[in-house]
Amino acid sequence: MIETLKVAVQKKGRLYDGSLALLKECGIEVSNGNNQLRVQAANFPLEVFFLRDDDIPEYVQDAVADIGFVGENVIAEKNKQVDPVEKLGFGKCRLSIAIPKTGTIRSTNDLNDKKIATSYPLILSNFLAQKNITATIQEISGSVEIAPRIGLADAICDLVSSGSTLFNNELSELETVLTSEAVLISNKNLSAEKQTLLNKLLFRIRAVKKAKNNKYVLLNAPNDKLDAIVKLLPGMKSPTILPLAESGWSSVHSVISENDFWNVIESLKANGAQGILIVPIEKMIV
Ligand code: ATP
Ligand code: ZN
Repeated sequence: MIETLKVAVQKKGRLYDGSLALLKECGIEVSNGNNQLRVQAANFPLEVFFLRDDDIPEYVQDAVADIGFVGENVIAEKNKQVDPVEKLGFGKCRLSIAIPKTGTIRSTNDLNDKKIATSYPLILSNFLAQKNITATIQEISGSVEIAPRIGLADAICDLVSSGSTLFNNELSELETVLTSEAVLISNKNLSAEKQTLLNKLLFRIRAVKKAKNNKYVLLNAPNDKLDAIVKLLPGMKSPTILPLAESGWSSVHSVISENDFWNVIESLKANGAQGILIVPIEKMIV
């Protein structure tokens, strides 16, 4: 029997698009046009289970699914026995304590003896214990941001990305409890065959992530400036240098990281580089 890797993905919500887009970039086509529970990938021994994100850690722990794509916030709250394998770079957010803009709570210590509404009681209680704060935790499953306005709680602890929900509810962020992004988690006892499939998938995910974090750069440089320019562009091994038809000039090709991208471009220009082209990389195998 050919083994199939069972992957748990959020069935709808903030992680759905990112999860399917990542599989696609890994060359794995999954279509869920009919809102099905399970879908077989066309070109990889992989089957996707579409589930609520809250259930994913438990299903992966219990081997209903072999691996899953889920937020670090959910992993921390559910506290199941799973292996976090790889951060995926999407679904970024933070779990924060927020307070009414006009009110008596001005610092984290002011939360003593107050009531905080959240869908993350475990993470919040660990945080409060660590800060030596005694507060009542009111667990609610959704629309946490309205709790202070309806008199249910004095503060909230909820997920934030842009902050617009807080702004619209006249709340301001007091303190970040946890930062989160989507991660790939794995069952702790995968068979050797499934581990091989996971390694194959991971190899592709890492190539996609690396490509996203890097750009291909091409530029023209006068030969007498090549030394300085090559020092700015270490590349994967070292840059490629090709002579231009015009004598005294070369074309330099290399790879630069997204992180120091603008600084490097500025230094390249300052060192005499011309006609700089920046091209996205689709996959990067190193
Ligand atoms: P489900 O029906 O699957 O339980 P949900 O309502 O719990 O869905 P979503 O709001 O779709 O979940 O969020 C899924 C995950 O997306 C969160 O657990 C978190 O990891 C991530 N996320 C990123 N940004 C945000 C944000 N601004 N608000 C909420 N979640 C965010
Ligand atoms: Zn959920």
